[in-house]
Amino acid sequence: MKFALLSAIALPALVSANHNAARHDNVARQAPPPTSSAPLPGSSVGSAPPPAATGSAVGSAPVTGSVPPAVSSVSFSLASINPTAVSLSDIVAGTLTTQATLPLTTTYAAGANPSYLPNAPPLPNLATVIPTNYPKLDVLPPTDSPEVLQWIAEVNASGITIPDIPVTVLGGCPANPAAAADTTRCWWSCGGCVRDSDITTCPDKLTWGLTYDDGPAPYTPDLLQYLNANDLTTTFFVVGSRAISYPALLQEEYMAQHQIAVHTWSHPYMTTVSTEGLIAELGWSKKIIKDVTGVTPIYFRPPYGDIDDRVRAIAKAMDLIPVMWTRISPLATFDTGDYNVAGGTITVTQVLQNWEEIIGNATQIDTGFIVLEHDLFAQTVDIATGYILPAALANKPSFNIKPVISCLNKPLSDAYLETNDNSSNPLPSGTNAAPGTFTSGAPGSSEATGSASNNGSSTKNNGAIAVGINNSSIILAVGTAIFGFVAGISIIL
Ligand SMILES: [Zn+2]
Repeated sequence: MKFALLSAIALPALVSANHNAARHDNVARQAPPPTSSAPLPGSSVGSAPPPAATGSAVGSAPVTGSVPPAVSSVSFSLASINPTAVSLSDIVAGTLTTQATLPLTTTYAAGANPSYLPNAPPLPNLATVIPTNYPKLDVLPPTDSPEVLQWIAEVNASGITIPDIPVTVLGGCPANPAAAADTTRCWWSCGGCVRDSDITTCPDKLTWGLTYDDGPAPYTPDLLQYLNANDLTTTFFVVGSRAISYPALLQEEYMAQHQIAVHTWSHPYMTTVSTEGLIAELGWSKKIIKDVTGVTPIYFRPPYGDIDDRVRAIAKAMDLIPVMWTRISPLATFDTGDYNVAGGTITVTQVLQNWEEIIGNATQIDTGFIVLEHDLFAQTVDIATGYILPAALANKPSFNIKPVISCLNKPLSDAYLETNDNSSNPLPSGTNAAPGTFTSGAPGSSEATGSASNNGSSTKNNGAIAVGINNSSIILAVGTAIFGFVAGISIIL
């Protein structure tokens, strides 16, 4: 009954959120600067578990003494909220809110052992992670560096066919009518097409593969504290440019047993980027994460979900498995829209309406689910720790909340190249498959099975192209290229 009442309200907001997703690039991708390293009383992080489910009435959010009433137009219902949540009226849309940040709880020594992860390398020394050895922040990396040339050669040597699918232009489906109409490329952004190789749900009903994108960022410690206090772990889709900016924070995520995954270097719409550019984006992201944590992720998420069969093939050749978020219909994607609060195209109340709709859908589908959320901005963390997570923990029926790798019923060690059991869990590129079999079922191959989306397309190989420079004799010269380093934080509005 509750969800039936809410659906009429929430659906338009969900549609709005989805439409707004195309405007992500209007918002600063860089993390806002922290104002302080000292916690403030009444910060958004609750150290105590959320209160027990209290029930709620449609038309208002449950309110505790420390949480001012929400604005009158609030039309969602949450089973529980964090008693120390930032009030809804203080989660302001359209601003890059800065508020006090929490310090790191632990600084790990070089050589520390992630004992929870069998056969993991010791933690690298962050003193060896020199920003000038990496590309400029938040722009596409050059494709002629020794590192990228090596990765291009490796992709060429993988035997994976990269479909000859032209790049798109910025502007999404309206700006690319021919591409949008071409179902053979299986472009998720226009129609929600997915391949069997895409992770879009968790297999077990009521299991939530928890994810946070675009960090690490100044407010990530608030999220980490909440997760730790409630015995939760998540998957962080890490932007390479943020990893080089906050390496100690990335180490803390990793050592706290969260899954670390790739989210590109500069967060582009991937279908707009050349094949060589995508190799650079993914390669540098893998490298900075390995340089900071000692391990190389096997999972990645395309920014904005912008993936087609060319992107899939490149990722596969680079041993990366795409993770999307659940989409059960064009009007019901499991996207909270939280990212757009900072951009001002959605309000916090709309995000919570979206969340209410997601909960309703999640309890009705036969599988588990994956939701899109972010740890980049103060608002997104405040919403997660104050409202979404407490409500999820109090939900009846209960959700089983875990990282994506765990929701897939795989050990955390299967999340990284260095710790993966190759005999039981062959790598995406087919490194451990029998010779000649690794392209079977690959995106872009004729063996791939059809789409799970409503367009019913099947993969068709449009012909292969060679990738960039095919030179197996390229010698990797590490650390010799000096790139300009953007030390400051620039805001793009
Ligand atoms: Zn993102």
